[in-house]
Amino acid sequence: MSNISESGSVLNYSRVYTCPVCRHGELSNISLMDAFACNFCNHIFSADLEQQVIQMADSQLALKWRWNGRSWQSVKSEGVELSWGYWIAGMMFILLPTAIVSLSVYLFPPLPESRLSWLPIFWIVLTLVSHLCCLIWLIIEYYQFPIFRYFRVITNRMLARFQN
Ligand SMILES: [Zn+2]
Repeated sequence: MSNISESGSVLNYSRVYTCPVCRHGELSNISLMDAFACNFCNHIFSADLEQQVIQMADSQLALKWRWNGRSWQSVKSEGVELSWGYWIAGMMFILLPTAIVSLSVYLFPPLPESRLSWLPIFWIVLTLVSHLCCLIWLIIEYYQFPIFRYFRVITNRMLARFQN
């Protein structure tokens, strides 16, 4: 296991690593614990130095990453990858309502010269986009991606630029 000779490339508690979740914050050891914490997304990771693996500790998902000496590689484990059924259900969730609205527009097309003839197309796009947003939101929630922190950092940077 320990054929890595350079001490700097081995996962240990004295170093600071880039967070594998947000890829923005820094992971550092929580003192007196076998764990790392990110200073950006606040996720906590339990560490297994023998395996060179960290696991997200504050999530129902067993998300794991292995340190390869330079970067994190996600370790596939059961229950983390969304199964095909979920993806198909997700596609149906987007496509079915859009198809129903499209079909009704196709069956009952608006009069071409009417003032609201743009409305059906607008409605189809709205149906598609709103359902897509719902699905993206669910995926973000599932993986606990720190999207609001990203937004906050981006807006803070923009504000700082305006003030200078
Ligand atoms: Zn992070």
